[in-house]
Amino acid sequence: MLLQEIAPYKYHNEYQPYAAREEDLFLGYRDGCVLAWDRDGEIALPTVGEYLSGEAHYLQAAMSTGVSSYSTETGSAPLAQCDKPFRYLFSIDEQRFFTLDEGKEAEEFGPYTPKTMRYLRVTKPLHLAYAAAVGYQLHTWYKRTRFCGSCGRPLIHAESERMMRCPGCGEMFFPQICPSVIVAVRDGERILLTKYSPAHFPKSTHNPKATYALVAGYIETGETPEQCVRREVMEEVGLHVKNLIPWKNQPWPFSSSLLFGFFCDLDGDDRITLQEDELAVAEWVRRTDMEDRSADISLTSNMMEAFRLGKDPK
Ligand SMILES: [Zn+2]
Repeated sequence: MLLQEIAPYKYHNEYQPYAAREEDLFLGYRDGCVLAWDRDGEIALPTVGEYLSGEAHYLQAAMSTGVSSYSTETGSAPLAQCDKPFRYLFSIDEQRFFTLDEGKEAEEFGPYTPKTMRYLRVTKPLHLAYAAAVGYQLHTWYKRTRFCGSCGRPLIHAESERMMRCPGCGEMFFPQICPSVIVAVRDGERILLTKYSPAHFPKSTHNPKATYALVAGYIETGETPEQCVRREVMEEVGLHVKNLIPWKNQPWPFSSSLLFGFFCDLDGDDRITLQEDELAVAEWVRRTDMEDRSADISLTSNMMEAFRLGKDPK
């Protein structure tokens, strides 16, 4: 099962300038986490109405205890957010999802506390985890896309599509999607597995229990996915590869990526030269020694499982 495989639910990302209603679901983000309630291993998201009333209670409590930073005169965070706060993101079936405009950080309230992006990889139901992940990508993009990179003016929302426009010079900014490759290098009954160096990750996405990964990297300017595969394998582990076979692909909202999976075979010498600023470990692992990764919803795990079970393309 991959993150995006949410059938029978259907994801609708057509841009619509909807206004938020009480019953719509709210995706609030804070410090790289999503506000959610874990109920026996299942994720629950607040409605817009709950978020507003939760904030109202919070505000009332703060005011009654005389905390002046939340008084109505200062116009501080919660009130400013209530002014014109919500931005429509997408729907899943008929359910609409909203976030705070301009990538603003949300206040936690009631049972809804910050949950990490890694939590979204293990929780259920999948369609809500997927929504929270895709919402995170858009939240991040809105947060980073507030001023024109050409002339520095504040950007405005385009009316008919998901795009930020500069009212000064007319420059257009679309949601960032970074194409990348995930590469399973095989040598007969062995597969090349890696572990990232801790320094490689931004703090918010760092996984303290580093697990095995595959060679991976962003496609660079002027490069095809296949050229990227050969370059990344050479850079990360110093190996030549042949027989490139495209596998599945996957949107990976946690890093704003679109991943293209490839299987390929070692060509020549199997001696690994590790790129130490990116990888901590790279080693050949026999098919029979691989761990079960069937519970993970990433393309990397999907490819490792395919190899472990002998279902990789020949
Ligand atoms: Zn501009």
